[in-house]
Amino acid sequence: MPMPQLLLIGAGHAHAFVLEAFAQQPASDIAITVVSDSPLAAYSGSVPAWLAGECTLRETQIDVAALCQRTNARLILSPASSINTQARYVALANGERVNFDVVSFNIGSTLARPQQHGENLPKLLAMRPLSSLHQRWQVVKNELSHLPSGGVQRVLGVGGGAAGCETLMSVLTQLRKQRPDIDWEGHLLTAADALLPEAGRLPRWLTRRALSKAGITVHVEQRGETLVEGGVTTQDGTRIDADIVLWATGAIGHSWLANTSLPLDKHNFIQVENTLEVTGQPTIFAAGDCAALTPALPNAGVYAVRMGPHLADNLRRACHNEPLLPWQPPERVLALIGTGDGRAIASRGGFGVSGKWVWQWKKRIDARFIARFNPPVEN
Ligand SMILES: Cc1cc2nc3c(=O)[nH]c(=O)nc-3n(C[C@H](O)[C@H](O)[C@H](O)COP(=O)(O)OP(=O)(O)OC[C@H]3O[C@@H](n4cnc5c(N)ncnc54)[C@H](O)[C@@H]3O)c2cc1C
Repeated sequence: MPMPQLLLIGAGHAHAFVLEAFAQQPASDIAITVVSDSPLAAYSGSVPAWLAGECTLRETQIDVAALCQRTNARLILSPASSINTQARYVALANGERVNFDVVSFNIGSTLARPQQHGENLPKLLAMRPLSSLHQRWQVVKNELSHLPSGGVQRVLGVGGGAAGCETLMSVLTQLRKQRPDIDWEGHLLTAADALLPEAGRLPRWLTRRALSKAGITVHVEQRGETLVEGGVTTQDGTRIDADIVLWATGAIGHSWLANTSLPLDKHNFIQVENTLEVTGQPTIFAAGDCAALTPALPNAGVYAVRMGPHLADNLRRACHNEPLLPWQPPERVLALIGTGDGRAIASRGGFGVSGKWVWQWKKRIDARFIARFNPPVEN
């Protein structure tokens, strides 16, 4: 019998665990191929530290190529662009077709960019997809040297989730550090009536306090919609002035998924059963941000991480035609939100605490996570 072909699309957090599981417990009867758009994958937990200038970009990335080598998996560096579920192949941007018996998607998410109207628009820094955030951030940083001394610059965050709040605080820290001669003003728009809709009251209050300490004014029930000359307009036509706009609105699935026969929810995410198998599509799996469970989970890396070992088990089972096991999402997860001032907020359900020690704790967790997947640096 030919060896089952297991194809992993995207090297997100869940697939990092799948590769680790197959490295620790090799399956000599399964051929693994990984399709990734990059040899390095971003780890979201370290993003605020990197934005605030506390660590290098490389310290926030998983070495996918090394992980594949450890697992004896073939790595193809080209993004997937379509899937033919009948003929059972995935087509790549480089024109290659990769056949599969079992395939799994862990390609993360993107966001809907704002409409743009007119000229002299503010600089846009879209927070997703995470994998290319470093390029967009570099463009913003490159332009800093052209700004005149002594003026005011308004940085406007759009999106009041944890990622929107923490990245705005981290970005402001870095901008103030790089150009202390400029008065950096911070504003945050959220369409909801409060920040962090999924968190309890105490973590919300701590976040609001941290934003205020960072000099950021919060505007609730204001949906940022269009980039216009000198700012952003909201749903009622109000213009909020901005020079730089951090766009951190809700996650959506990658647009190419809409042209496949995969079942998608209204956010363009792939609908899966509790086994992480795609609804009505045996031997096709999805995990992390790109997967839509019922009920839906928040788009957070911590869920992708928790799915990883279970996905590995079910992929192995699918390759061996064995019954799949259901995955049980955790009831509550810990969120650690950096506040850009050497502190962080820990939030779990209604519990919340903040301090320098929380930031140190977060940095230790993140460093351990990265070290787990990366080979030790040789001297
Ligand atoms: C600024 C920011 C900060 C965040 N901070 C946190 C945090 O502190 N804690 C937390 O839990 N969550 C955080 N999140 C959310 C978190 O980033 C995501 O939930 C998490 O990354 C999802 O993991 P994933 O494994 O699904 O996908 P990802 O980690 O996004 O990985 C997907 C991978 O697939 C690759 N890929 C994409 N398309 C293709 C394709 N067509 N073909 C091949 N490869 C492809 C990408 O390059 C990437 O390597 C943050 C999000 C943002 C935007």
